[in-house]
Amino acid sequence: MSRSTPQGEPHDWVTRAADDAIRHHEKTGASGPVTCSSGISPSGPIHLGNLREFLMPHFVADELRRRGVPVRHLHVWDDYDRFRKVPAGVDPSYAEHIGRPYTAVPDPWGCHSTWSDHYKEPIVSALHTLGVDMEEISQTERYRSGVYRDEVLRAVRHRHEIDKVLSRYRTKEPIPAAADETGDHAAQEAEAMAESVANDDEGESGAGTTDVGYFPFKPYCRDCGRDTTTVTAYDEETTDLAYTCSVCDYHGTTNLATQDEGKLVWKVDWPMRWAFEHVDFEPAGMDHATPGSSFTVGHELVESVWDYPRPAWFGYGFVGFAGVQKMSSSAGGAPTAEDALRVLEPGILRWLYVRRQPKQTFDIDFGPEVVRLYDEWDALARKATAKRDVQVLAYERAAATETAGRLPTPEVVVPFRILSSVADVTAGSAEQISRLINTMGHPHDSVEQLEPRLSRAMAWTEEFVPASERTTVRTEPDAAAIEALSSQEREWLSLLLQGLQGELELGRVTSLVYGVPKLARGMSLDEAPTDEVKADQKEFFRLLYHLLVDAERGPRLPTLMVALGSERVRALLGA
Ligand SMILES: [Zn+2]
Repeated sequence: MSRSTPQGEPHDWVTRAADDAIRHHEKTGASGPVTCSSGISPSGPIHLGNLREFLMPHFVADELRRRGVPVRHLHVWDDYDRFRKVPAGVDPSYAEHIGRPYTAVPDPWGCHSTWSDHYKEPIVSALHTLGVDMEEISQTERYRSGVYRDEVLRAVRHRHEIDKVLSRYRTKEPIPAAADETGDHAAQEAEAMAESVANDDEGESGAGTTDVGYFPFKPYCRDCGRDTTTVTAYDEETTDLAYTCSVCDYHGTTNLATQDEGKLVWKVDWPMRWAFEHVDFEPAGMDHATPGSSFTVGHELVESVWDYPRPAWFGYGFVGFAGVQKMSSSAGGAPTAEDALRVLEPGILRWLYVRRQPKQTFDIDFGPEVVRLYDEWDALARKATAKRDVQVLAYERAAATETAGRLPTPEVVVPFRILSSVADVTAGSAEQISRLINTMGHPHDSVEQLEPRLSRAMAWTEEFVPASERTTVRTEPDAAAIEALSSQEREWLSLLLQGLQGELELGRVTSLVYGVPKLARGMSLDEAPTDEVKADQKEFFRLLYHLLVDAERGPRLPTLMVALGSERVRALLGA
């Protein structure tokens, strides 16, 4: 087992984060595997920005696996968090569930048993496609099963100390409005801030503030299941905790040593989990890297209350989107990993996240940029066999994982731009596209050899190329235009039609289409074009585009003709 990267090998952010995780693991003296952690609330659609939360620790864990270091990627589902707000598109009657954990709210669409499962399933499936191997835990199960009891009691014993740390950061800053739209820690962050504001202003009702002063544990009401509870008394000896519920007016008592009916407030929950789960590395969105955030406060608390060194970490930047106005996002909002995988090969989607420094923000563009992205990726794949540098290292990390092996990639690599343009021209089936691709210098035996790229090229062409840029082949010949052709144009078409018979082959059609104006001027097909010929070609091509697709320009004419077949082309050209 080599715990460090050999000298001379390329180093990137993943290498460094893996080194940090190992150093942290050695500091804790823990005997288990190195733990790289992510965490998210299944509060809504998990979009491509949130995907970074999963992929950052994944790449680090994968690097450690390559080194032979025992490691696990621990993903924590914050599904015991409260349902905060009824989003647009959900029946307003769901307001009834506000304050209940996500695992206790029914799925409004009825396809899963709970709200939480509804949002977990698509991302888990996408992560599987992406080769992400993680151990998932549910905070609902963790809390309800009682495994955190000792940690809850520890936090409660240290509550005055926790209060002191928190009070150093309590300010009356406004709550960022955007936080309500996010489904992750940031939202809880905003909530926690709102609560600390309430603490200072009113001294009651917020999480943490109670009749017995600051209290880091909040029960879910035994009667109505909501967290709209206020602790009214706590008995240090018996650990009996009395509370009232402001919604249903229930008065109850729960025992922290024997019952499991609530959770630590967010700012205390996070450090508790780091210590209890032996987390060595957990990155966080840049919005967490501010004074007083749950992240920085958590770093203090994990050391002072749990005596556990703060995990290694870095802040990562925001991920934005472009070209999505056309996208029929499965989530109805920001695109998700599932959406992206409809047009990007798994390796390419991974590559977008691994090739950039974590602090760098970037946009994922689903417009024309996709074509360039595929070209760049293919070029990198060719380079990867030649020279090993940081770019190639990023390619390697994206293309394969230690546990999943090589991610799906086409056996016969055809440039995305060719696949999509053939898909555009034919608007046809995968089989038809494959047949054409065969005649275009990319021989292969089956459609499968072009996958998973072919279906992505078809989806992209269908969903992301604006209608104005799509090719619409005429269904009927333009009789009026054919009637009005000049004698020059008639000669060109006649020369072309003589050569366009039977099965069309791309090479032959190419030389014919470019050669017709030469033949008309008494030259041979393979002679170099003169300036006159070039001018004729331009005019001839314009004529062909008009007669075939009713446009000024379009896809390469030879490709278009081969795709349409001689019979259809001849009919549209008035033969
Ligand atoms: Zn209640």
